Amino acid sequence: MDIGSAEEILAAGKADFVAMCRPLLADPAMPRKYALGREGERRPCLRCQYCGLRLLVPAVINCAVNPFLGNETEFPEGKVKRAEVRKRVAVVGGGPAGLEALETLCARGHDVTLYEKRDRLGGHVVEGSVLPFKRDVRDYLDYLVRRAGRAPARILLNTEATRELLDAEGYDALVIAVGSTPVVPPLGGIDKPHVHWAPEADSGAAAVGERTVVVGAGSVGVECALGLRMRGKDVTLVEMAPDLSGLSASAGGAAMELTALLEKYAIPVRHYCRLEEVTDGTVLCRDTRTGDIREFPADTVLLALGVTPRREEAENLRRSAPETEVFIVGDAAEPGTIATAVRSAFRAAAYI
Ligand SMILES: Cc1cc2nc3c(=O)[nH]c(=O)nc-3n(C[C@H](O)[C@H](O)[C@H](O)COP(=O)(O)OP(=O)(O)OC[C@H]3O[C@@H](n4cnc5c(N)ncnc54)[C@H](O)[C@@H]3O)c2cc1C
Ligand code: SF4
Repeated sequence: MDIGSAEEILAAGKADFVAMCRPLLADPAMPRKYALGREGERRPCLRCQYCGLRLLVPAVINCAVNPFLGNETEFPEGKVKRAEVRKRVAVVGGGPAGLEALETLCARGHDVTLYEKRDRLGGHVVEGSVLPFKRDVRDYLDYLVRRAGRAPARILLNTEATRELLDAEGYDALVIAVGSTPVVPPLGGIDKPHVHWAPEADSGAAAVGERTVVVGAGSVGVECALGLRMRGKDVTLVEMAPDLSGLSASAGGAAMELTALLEKYAIPVRHYCRLEEVTDGTVLCRDTRTGDIREFPADTVLLALGVTPRREEAENLRRSAPETEVFIVGDAAEPGTIATAVRSAFRAAAYI
């Protein structure tokens, strides 16, 4: 929900008053930004329900995208303090963690350089925003890129930070936000041309046939299956766990909505199925209860088995600045969500 959508509701006569809650947690200054004609600076709400889950704990409400929320004593006025000593800081990685670090370091007055090896900013949020029902994530990605464009920093795209490059620059501090890579188990047939990482099908980078098996029913697998079914494809999810606990862990507050959509679109989820092998026309899974092999026909196999931190890369880069001035943040420290990426990066950068 933003002011534009609220205006549409009013103009259509659907309501004569629109109240908002979460958009104002994500950005308490949002109405003022509109009033000043600076709506491009609005920090959009992801509708991720991270805040709602905090209420259930119960704990102080925090927000996935607004690291100041719930931390007003530590950061009065929603601001970080200017640093007493201006440092030259490198941020490696232009995903949400790296971009939050960039913003916070600039607010502290540091001299910041961000390295991103791809040709665009956003990290996994790029892949995570392509499906039609990920409008909020897309909105957030656009915001991240716009905000980075305003930062008084050096942003180097198509530039992989290496140990040599960082050593040559001799930075005072380093934020390592190199993210993660997809898990690909070393199983028979996993290299076949019809096996892909699920987000490659979301974006259209990988061609999908008529009968797809998605392996892994966490948020990435479930969203991929939904995207395919919405395109009229036949899709089956196979999952090792007896339930959708992996979805709850990865999707947080959005898990209920995704579970309801799985039911609405009648997508079969085969539980107790551990991937064993991919053949030319089938996926073979071991039934974790009986030990039997179960066979699923498939002309396309999409893997959604989680991600693993780029740990080796992070360990290699960390020697390029004094030990106490190096921070590994976001998925590079522990795979999570936009919320964990933003929060860990902010926490590190706020005290450099
Ligand atoms: C398909 C998909 C959907 C998702 N959907 C959601 C969602 O709806 N909500 C949610 O909260 N989370 C979602 N996530 C998770 C979320 O995207 C990640 O948790 C988050 O992007 C992690 O941020 P990060 O900055 O730590 O790492 P990343 O986003 O992985 O960014 C790391 C960046 O570092 C760059 N890099 C790596 N090494 C170097 C180097 N040496 N030099 C320069 N650059 C380098 C990479 O190119 C990359 O751009 C999704 C993830 C995926 C894969
Ligand atoms: S935690 Fe998520 S849902 Fe709640 S206000 Fe922040 S972005 Fe919106």
